[in-house]
Amino acid sequence: MRCYCVLHHGQALEMVEKPMPEPQGTEVLLKVRAAGVCHTDLHLWEGHYDLGGGKKLTLAERGIKPPLTLSHEIVGEVVSAGPDAHSAGGVKTGNVALLHPWIGCGECPACQRGEENICIKPQALGVVRPGGFAEYVIVPHPRYLVDIEGLEPAQAAPLACAGVTTYSALKKLGDRIHTDPVVIIGAGGLGLMAIEVLKALGGKGAIVVDLDPIKRKAALNAGALEVVDARATDAAQQIQQATGGGARAVLDLVGATPTVGLAIASAARGGHIVICGLMGGDLSLALPIIPMRPLTLQGSYVGTLKELEELVSLVKQSGMKAIPVNTRPLSEANTALQDLHHGKVVGRTVLIP
Ligand SMILES: [Zn+2]
Ligand SMILES: [Zn+2]
Repeated sequence: MRCYCVLHHGQALEMVEKPMPEPQGTEVLLKVRAAGVCHTDLHLWEGHYDLGGGKKLTLAERGIKPPLTLSHEIVGEVVSAGPDAHSAGGVKTGNVALLHPWIGCGECPACQRGEENICIKPQALGVVRPGGFAEYVIVPHPRYLVDIEGLEPAQAAPLACAGVTTYSALKKLGDRIHTDPVVIIGAGGLGLMAIEVLKALGGKGAIVVDLDPIKRKAALNAGALEVVDARATDAAQQIQQATGGGARAVLDLVGATPTVGLAIASAARGGHIVICGLMGGDLSLALPIIPMRPLTLQGSYVGTLKELEELVSLVKQSGMKAIPVNTRPLSEANTALQDLHHGKVVGRTVLIP
């Protein structure tokens, strides 16, 4: 089978011919029908995260080394399964499913709580295990297959990362999404997804911040109440005005020094800021403002299997609109990744083998 792999960090993805994997035990083999291209794929391709002040967290330090087959936003069609998969439940050849990629070790306390996404020995598809930039993919157990009957594979694929990341983060903001607008920083694939999920959850609406006028326009088209240019010198004042006195709920999907700074500067007393973006940098913060204002700063990392299942049912029930998706053939994996790297993608690119 063909895979498009990172053989050396920072260099073009290469086409590699691999033998077809044979599913063992409870494993399921799927033919990839759609594979989304995410910002995390860029970090995996580059090989590091920016910790600010010139410091970097390399993937090698986290035990992740090439060759890597990227993409964790995968829809696949069941081809075959190991001898123990059928008794483990619900695998049928020909079934098309969205894969929950945020797989853990299954044994640590986090996995036991169902929070495999924060496992200390993660096994995520497209990060640690081979992902969807390939003709076929293996999942370790049928429980990671989420039924998407009635949804298009290319439109369902982004739910596995962009979708569940924004869903999990919005849930952390609690009831205030119904009473206050949510300030969403970053109008890339995640930002547009957050606008749709917020609408499906019956939220009050989104005020969207981005540097790029094309992405701000896409946010308005998706139904944002207002947009703010992140580079405006008075961006914090504009957000305070748009929220009627300061943001009570902020979703930072960029996670860079200036965006977190803007979130804190524009937050109201009692404001809740959830950071999901991994753009990087660091933060110097006068500590008394956390108790005195008082602010909640919270991180959120992708989502759980339960949250992905909840999101998929929400999409089916609400008829939630898909974000703009442009499909490309799998053979264009490298160009698609480079276009995302250069900020040229509105919505999501999804590769079709
Ligand atoms: Zn675990
Ligand atoms: Zn992702």
